[in-house]
Amino acid sequence: MIRTGRQYLESLRDDREIWIDGERVRDVTIDPRFRSAAESIAELYQMQHDPGLQDRLTYISAEGERTGLSYIEPKSQADLVRRREMVKSWMDWTGGMMGRSPDFMNVHMTGFGSAHEYFARGGERFGRNIRRYYEHLRKNDLALTHTLINPQTDRSKPVHEQNTAAAIVKETDAGIVIHGARMIATLAPFSNDIAVFPSTFLQLSDEAKPYAFAFSIPIATPGLRFICRPAITPLNARAQDYPFSARLDEMDCVAIFDNVLVPWERVFIFQQPKLGNGMFAETGTINQIMHQFATKNLAKAEFLLGVALNMSDAVGIGGFQHVQNYIHEMINTVELVRSCIRASEIDCIPGPNGTVLPNDQPLLTVRTLFPELYPRLVEIIRILGASGLVMVPSHDELSGQRAADVERYYQGANLPADKRIELFRIAWDVSCSSFAGRQTLYERYFSGDPWRLAMLRYQSYPRQQELKQRIWDFAKRTAEWDRREQENKAEKGESSHVTA
Ligand SMILES: Cc1cc2nc3c(=O)[nH]c(=O)nc-3n(C[C@H](O)[C@H](O)[C@H](O)COP(=O)(O)OP(=O)(O)OC[C@H]3O[C@@H](n4cnc5c(N)ncnc54)[C@H](O)[C@@H]3O)c2cc1C
Repeated sequence: MIRTGRQYLESLRDDREIWIDGERVRDVTIDPRFRSAAESIAELYQMQHDPGLQDRLTYISAEGERTGLSYIEPKSQADLVRRREMVKSWMDWTGGMMGRSPDFMNVHMTGFGSAHEYFARGGERFGRNIRRYYEHLRKNDLALTHTLINPQTDRSKPVHEQNTAAAIVKETDAGIVIHGARMIATLAPFSNDIAVFPSTFLQLSDEAKPYAFAFSIPIATPGLRFICRPAITPLNARAQDYPFSARLDEMDCVAIFDNVLVPWERVFIFQQPKLGNGMFAETGTINQIMHQFATKNLAKAEFLLGVALNMSDAVGIGGFQHVQNYIHEMINTVELVRSCIRASEIDCIPGPNGTVLPNDQPLLTVRTLFPELYPRLVEIIRILGASGLVMVPSHDELSGQRAADVERYYQGANLPADKRIELFRIAWDVSCSSFAGRQTLYERYFSGDPWRLAMLRYQSYPRQQELKQRIWDFAKRTAEWDRREQENKAEKGESSHVTA
């Protein structure tokens, strides 16, 4: 089933405990700090019902139900392309600036659902639980947040030596009881459920077992509360003045579990550090996730390139050589990310239960490079925009007493003042605002610490042996060549010494 925007908004009106600025939010669909982002996500859901987009965004499931394509279990390269086109449509709608739109977690849970046997290694029922849960999500078109990371209390100690991380504190007939916190859960106020997965790598010890769990429960579960950072959305802001901040603040929260009961049917991993550590890689789910977020990165890079091209036209700077060089750098980023996504699809590999996995190597290149490429794209927008980014009045000025001044002095080389203001407010919001700062932080960290990812890649790069051997083969051929040369020279009685 595909939900409408209205059904999605209705689903957020429950007993969820969301705290911000010292108060509990009554209704995220009405509160001015949350309303616009909720409506923006509702727009995405509603797009699934647009006859012009439906075939691009949805498919008919085996049960004959129209279903969002981010839930598809890809069985062929063509399925990967279809899913990518769906993700790209949502991402283009938001300029790639809503990293945690529901497709992100749908792809996660679909990957885990396809690999249910992995979870069954910890007990048959856990395999059944993850498969049923995936089907439940797919049939109900739910929105999820997730949380992996323990609170940033003392990173020099293992998790069991801290007293802040969420842990299993009790086991009952009904389920497991979780107490403690997790940071962070982006999109939590706008989600139906929260998936809680094992965080980073756990020691394979008894002490780590209380932290080795995976489960998913409704946001409105008793005892579960979220504390949000202050909103980026300026109160009473016009969308045209804050094109992104006013509509796409997906919100980041700390999740606090106050003796929360998780029913057994929602538990996927229980006290199994080894299964937790391998959950993303061994199920192939990380390949699917990287394919989703590389597509987001492509949409984002393309959007910033579009902004730069328009700015360069708007103020007549496109003829300067260094401007062309900067924009060429942005084109390189777009084309690199695009090519990596295509390569991952073309070189896809078999996955669990007849599925295919996009190849991880080109996607790992995007995952580890984009944290460096994205800040550079933003910097180029700032370099090209210069003071034009801050010398932009609000839209009210266009109809205020100084409208004639604005019309005359804010025009561009080829744009009337109102269009130039529109363009430069977009450019400001992606490069200079709080929204822009959070996006840059997000791109650095959302899929893990780039330093540690780089180390892991070094350690696990599958072509290491082949490439190292190639050098020794070359050295061997060189030595053989050299030996033959020496023998030839000796035969001819020539000196083997180099002469200047
Ligand atoms: C905007 C935003 C949204 C996010 N949304 C989500 C979400 O919805 N769900 C979710 O699960 N996660 C989310 N994340 C969290 C993300 O997974 C983490 O930021 C990332 O894994 C890094 O962990 P950390 O932030 O705890 O940094 P830390 O681990 O605290 O690292 C801080 C610094 O110390 C260094 N450091 C710390 N420990 C080590 C170590 N052992 N070895 C080497 N260096 C170390 C790091 O390199 C880094 O420079 C989000 C992050 C951001 C910024």
